[in-house]
Amino acid sequence: MIDAIVETVKTGARFVSTEWVWINHGMPFREVMDINHLYYRVCSKCEYFENQGCLICRCRLVPNERSPLNKLSMATTNCPLPEPKWISAITPPDDITPEVAAKALKNSKANLVETVEPEEMIETTQEQTLMTVDEIKKKRTGADGANPFVRTRTGQYVQGDE
Ligand code: SF4
Repeated sequence: MIDAIVETVKTGARFVSTEWVWINHGMPFREVMDINHLYYRVCSKCEYFENQGCLICRCRLVPNERSPLNKLSMATTNCPLPEPKWISAITPPDDITPEVAAKALKNSKANLVETVEPEEMIETTQEQTLMTVDEIKKKRTGADGANPFVRTRTGQYVQGDE
C-alpha cells in the first residue's frame, strides 16, 4: 500500500516536472502531423507502448490531440529511453551522442520521414540494461510494485539506482 502511494507520488512528480519544462519554454506544441507521426510510426510500434501510454515514463501518448495531457504534443518532451527514439528540437537530452541525437531528431519530424529508411529508425540496443515489457509488468505487479526505471537529472530514464 505504501509502495503504491510512493509510486503514485513519483509519477505525479514526473508529470509536474514535464509540464514545468514545457511551461518554462512558452508551452509550445508540436504540429499535429508530427504528433501523429510519432504516435503511428514510432511509439505505437515500440515494445514499451501499451494502452496509449509509455511503460517507462508512464506518460499518455495519443494521436490527433494537442494538450498538456498528451506527451507527444508538447514540443519540449523526449522519448525516455537511454537511446531515445525521438527527441525535442527545443530541449533535447544533453547526455546522448550527436549521432543518436541526429537520428532521434529525424525520427521526430513527419516531413523528414522520407529521408529515414525504416532500418535507420533507432531500435533499443541496450538489452543488458533495459527490461522487457513482460519483466516490467511482472515487476509492477510484484511485491514492491516499483517502477524499475529511475529518472535522471537530465530527464532520461535508466534502470536501477541513479
Ligand atoms: S519508450 Fe519512447 S518510443 Fe517507446 S513508447 Fe515510450 S516514448 Fe514512445
